[in-house]
Amino acid sequence: MPELPEVEALRRLLTERAVGRPVVRVDVTAISVLKTYDPPITALSGLFVSDVSRHGKFLDVGVGGDGVAPAPLHLVVHLARAGWLQWRENLPALPAKPGKGPLALRVHLGEREGQPDSPQAEGVAAGFDLTEAGTKKGLAAYVVRDPALVPGVARLGPDPLADAFTVEVLADLLHRAGRAQLKGVLRDQSVIAGIGNAYSDEVLHAAKLSPFKPANTLDADGVAALYEVIRTTLADAIERAAGLATNQLKGEKKAGLQVHGRAGQPCPVCGDTIREVSFSDRALQYCATCQTGGKPLADRRLSKLLK
Ligand SMILES: [Zn+2]
Repeated sequence: MPELPEVEALRRLLTERAVGRPVVRVDVTAISVLKTYDPPITALSGLFVSDVSRHGKFLDVGVGGDGVAPAPLHLVVHLARAGWLQWRENLPALPAKPGKGPLALRVHLGEREGQPDSPQAEGVAAGFDLTEAGTKKGLAAYVVRDPALVPGVARLGPDPLADAFTVEVLADLLHRAGRAQLKGVLRDQSVIAGIGNAYSDEVLHAAKLSPFKPANTLDADGVAALYEVIRTTLADAIERAAGLATNQLKGEKKAGLQVHGRAGQPCPVCGDTIREVSFSDRALQYCATCQTGGKPLADRRLSKLLK
């Protein structure tokens, strides 16, 4: 699943390539992806992409604005677990057909006024595809006048890379989370926006904290250390993703992870075997030597199965 660093990379890529281009047409090939009907998706056609922003893991394509004031229309996208955005220099002009493939939504863009980027064949234009693999559909697109009208955006906590996200803000969030486990607190979008299952594992490993540690038990030094790790883990991941093509981002994310998705492999820090705790729909990975004083965490699902 794309998290803050990957969505930020997509934001930068779209800012570079899509801003200034007119929306020619949007093809919706998976009806369930579009969560709004007013304004209709056809309202975007003929308007120019004016700015691209990010709210947590939501990508927000501003359309029809002047690039300074908030745009009058927004195409807001949440890629969910298996969704992806693919920039395409050569999109076929013919409308995409609804079908069973991964394509969910296609945005056809025209050339920038007065400065065609490259000579393109007749009937071919640039744009981007939203795709979703697998059968569990979570990809969501919204056309709204204000991104805050998207329920998931309205609920978001502070962005961990924003200037306003200070050590004090984090201390307060952890205090208010009470006895809730750090792993769940870090990936709760209403507490901190943008960190998901992968980067919460990475942050906790780098901070040498147990995923099950109650949030309000960190002392001031612990909060300060966690704060630094959150900022550097995300910033490093963004740096690695910078300039990559959309189809390279997923591989880069995976390659950059130290513990997430690496159960059974040696911890790059201490060499201990990375362990896993499974839940019904996901799993977390951690290093016992680095994070839990060498003590393996109880895997509730596994213990239940063994009974
Ligand atoms: Zn380790």
